[in-house]
Amino acid sequence: MNLTPFYKQNYEQRLAMLKEKLGLTDVDEALITGKTATLGNQTIENYLMDFSIPEGVAVNFKINGKEKVVPMATEEPSVIAAASNGAKIIAAGGGIQASTTERLMMGQVLMANVQKPVQLTQRLLQYKPEILQTANDAHPSIVKRGGGAKKIRVRKLAHQFISLDIFIDTKEAMGANMINAMLEAVAKLLKVKLGQTSLMAILSNLADECLATATCRIPVKVLTTKQLNGKEVAQRIVLASEAAQVDPYRAATHNKGIMNGIDVVVMASGNDWRAIESSVHAYAARDGHYRGLSCWQIENDFLIGNLTLPLPVGFVGGSIKLNQKAQLNHRILQVSTAKELEEVLVSVGLAQNLAALKALVSEGIQRGHMHLQAKSLLLSVGATTAELADAQAKLESAPVIDQQTARQILKELRG
Ligand code: NDP
Repeated sequence: MNLTPFYKQNYEQRLAMLKEKLGLTDVDEALITGKTATLGNQTIENYLMDFSIPEGVAVNFKINGKEKVVPMATEEPSVIAAASNGAKIIAAGGGIQASTTERLMMGQVLMANVQKPVQLTQRLLQYKPEILQTANDAHPSIVKRGGGAKKIRVRKLAHQFISLDIFIDTKEAMGANMINAMLEAVAKLLKVKLGQTSLMAILSNLADECLATATCRIPVKVLTTKQLNGKEVAQRIVLASEAAQVDPYRAATHNKGIMNGIDVVVMASGNDWRAIESSVHAYAARDGHYRGLSCWQIENDFLIGNLTLPLPVGFVGGSIKLNQKAQLNHRILQVSTAKELEEVLVSVGLAQNLAALKALVSEGIQRGHMHLQAKSLLLSVGATTAELADAQAKLESAPVIDQQTARQILKELRG
């Protein structure tokens, strides 16, 4: 199938070409074009249609003494319920305290086949003022805003690589594009001044100088379940957090649970969730061993939770300002800086983690999860809106909640 020069066509032409080449019907076309004002054609290449994801809000959050409603864009049932549940438990202990470090992003000019690493390291360090100046000259407006390149570091890596790391305060932006422009300017400087070629110049997504921390202190009695007293639940949560420190298989799922909450708020805020995912998982392996990101301990009769993550999000930049829904979500969140957004994100991660661990170490994850999946299961096997209420009640009380049972229930309802 030859679609060239596809990218040069306007939207209507691209759609007509696709329709012809792929045999799309008028119904397909109506589905594709049934859109209101969209960002798509302004932001990505070869735009076809918007792919929507439902957005809901998590409630019960109390962060640094303020109540927050948290917009979440997700296709996964149970994420919003779990976050709200975790936040409610934590609120019973006074809520979440969140804080951030300075927001320094890091970019690398990577040099390969370096024959004299000690000599090159010394020369790069001697050139620090010129390197910082060149970086800042490549994006002077960020310096006017009080940011810009602040410091450098040189690392000798295995296999004769040298990395010149430049730390940049990107203020309210995530900064990928401005950092990359600065790094490419520095790579040119190194070529001209030192005759040193570079392999590449690009930001690092491991933003370990842009950290956010959330802590909470929960009286163990609020963790009580039907089967276990609060202290027992707390002790089992502590064990679960220890297991995620020693086993990467467990840690991966532990951290996925944390990111269930964070990704969906990152998305609702108009940010690049891939950047946050890569940052967080790299940080989880920063000592060479992939570990759970949160830590839970008991002090007296309190369960103490702690979560620290790199969260290099932006409040501006990328498509954030263009995206009216992201702007609305900022207002719902009542945040007006990247640091405040970081505080919400890390708090959501902590609440999400608590809800998951509590369920896992008490009744198990499936009961609550499948209860919330019942509706999607029924819809996926063809339930109509009119059938949904009755069918859902029956499926939720069935011993096994799966597609087969959902089909059986619909069959019975339909007589
Ligand atoms: P932009 O390129 O949109 O840059 C942000 C712009 O916002 C700046 O150039 C600045 O313009 C303006 N701005 C306005 N107010 C402020 C403020 N208070 N603080 C800081 N900047 C401000 O976006 P980013 O550089 O942030 O890059 C983010 C995008 O890059 C995302 O879309 C991401 O997906 C993408 N990306 C990610 C990569 C990765 O993660 N590895 C790699 C490459 C791209 P001015 O100062 O001139 O007014």
